[in-house]
Amino acid sequence: MYRTNTCGELRITDAGKSVTLAGWVQRSRKMGGMTFVDLRDRYGITQIVFNNEVNAELCEKANQLGREFVIAVTGTVAERSSKNKNLPTGDIEIIASDLNILNRSDVPPFTIEDNTDGGDDIRMKYRYLDLRRSAVRKNLELRHKMTIEVRRYLDSKGFLEVETPILIGSTPEGARDFVVPSRMNPGQFYALPQSPQTLKQLLMVSGFDRYFQIAKCFRDEDLRADRQPEFTQIDCEMSFVEQNDIIELFEGMTKYLFKTIRGVELNEPFIRMPWSEAMKRFGSDKPDMRFGMEFVELKEFFNGKGDFAVFNDAAYIGGICAPGCAVYTRKQIDQLTDFVKRPQIGAKGLVYARVAEDGSVKSSVDKFYSQEVLQGLKAEMNAQPGDLILILSGDDVMKTRKQLCELRLEMGERLGLRDKNKFALLWVVDFPMFEWSEEEGRLMAMHHPFTHPKDEDIPLLDTNPAAVRADAYDMVCNGIEVGGGSIRIHDPKLQAKMFEILGFTPERAQEQFGFLMNAFKFGAPPHGGLAYGLDRWVSIFAGLDSIRDCIAFPKNNSGRDVMLDAPSRIDDKQLDELCLKVDVKE
Ligand code: ASP
Repeated sequence: MYRTNTCGELRITDAGKSVTLAGWVQRSRKMGGMTFVDLRDRYGITQIVFNNEVNAELCEKANQLGREFVIAVTGTVAERSSKNKNLPTGDIEIIASDLNILNRSDVPPFTIEDNTDGGDDIRMKYRYLDLRRSAVRKNLELRHKMTIEVRRYLDSKGFLEVETPILIGSTPEGARDFVVPSRMNPGQFYALPQSPQTLKQLLMVSGFDRYFQIAKCFRDEDLRADRQPEFTQIDCEMSFVEQNDIIELFEGMTKYLFKTIRGVELNEPFIRMPWSEAMKRFGSDKPDMRFGMEFVELKEFFNGKGDFAVFNDAAYIGGICAPGCAVYTRKQIDQLTDFVKRPQIGAKGLVYARVAEDGSVKSSVDKFYSQEVLQGLKAEMNAQPGDLILILSGDDVMKTRKQLCELRLEMGERLGLRDKNKFALLWVVDFPMFEWSEEEGRLMAMHHPFTHPKDEDIPLLDTNPAAVRADAYDMVCNGIEVGGGSIRIHDPKLQAKMFEILGFTPERAQEQFGFLMNAFKFGAPPHGGLAYGLDRWVSIFAGLDSIRDCIAFPKNNSGRDVMLDAPSRIDDKQLDELCLKVDVKE
């Protein structure tokens, strides 16, 4: 037997027991005739003491221990004279009577402690060592707990967990596929699933009316901050349901998870906000509702009130009111102006108005507008003395709203209103069915092409597709999309029409999605579902800034696994077998 106990479990009540612990040497220090070792395993840290006066030979052996040596120690649990309140085991130590060195370790490239001296890159390269640190390990424990609770909840609701294949066919709608060459079918490729979307729909046709899967998904996208090329979804689908059934069930699951994982009771029903309202009030389909600072549309207000050409020519003018920020210095306002002008945001400029304590308004557009107009602005914005009004304008309504959204989030950040321990959840519903893609020069499905249009909007498919709304919904937590789904089309004719609107010829639709449309001919039930981003959920629950920290072996921002050095070249023999030739243009 290697050990009787873990390094995290012994307490004062165990004093006097003879025990054997095994783990890694986090630190050792010599003080007088004593050598102290912090012994670490997955469960915690326990202090071990070697006493030179009691057993000189053993103490000499302990003095040879290097950091991260793997050892087993036998000894007696004793009360510590100086207790460590920061450790659950801090009231006790083990007086060692035997030491077995199970393995040696090179000096690790960074200190494996809560406050490590290792930078991001080195910790990624030696991720297996970083995972020994409790900060990282805890995230994986939380992730495990979440998946257990998800399974428990969904099982209790009659869901069946079904695995779907990883090697499937390419479906070009959505992001780019990762592809895998097939040796046995030369010149042909599998694709890795971007999500099990079509497969779970087929399971509905099969009659599995409540399906879920903790599913790996793969998307070959240009990496934006905090995206991983492979990630995990809690993927669900149900038959014989309407949007409301799905929303209620998964709102229930969310509340259950908040309660069991975080001890947070979310009693109120989540707000359901139509997409168009979210865009109008927050400039975003994932509004951060932890704070207010809602948009006030000012186009009509400024109309005909002054000769500021920028406003007079704008298609959209919108403002937010930052409470207590009238004291902002010129420099702080310049910083905000630079912020909105950054190429990623792209505003042309920022108009501001300070509301002084006496109620008077001083603005950057004083020379175009009378004090009376500015007082009107104050009233329109419902601004109080001490507030700072920030206004953006532009010739594209959507773009300007998005810019104002960034500004709102920035102000929320600056004012400390985006508290990680506060949770604001809502559903955004009634998404548009389509969005125009500049790149493709055609309409694209906003959610995916299997999404059902709202019944009342179906006639618009022929006349004004851009105005069609979908039975699609996203769950948003603290400004982050944590899940999303839709009611699906189950009528093969409607599905064919959808592909037509999306620019597929009937032949191409048949070639790529024939399997689904054919299946729909054999009695497809009405169905719908959704998927949660597991990585995102865990990072929210753990209060992390990045999803990377809750993934055991993540990729870096260029999609590389620096530990495995992947992706990498394969040798010529492998290429030959796959009938592939590589032709990389510099
Ligand atoms: N498959 C969808 C996605 O990955 C989710 C869903 O509609 O269920 O976004």
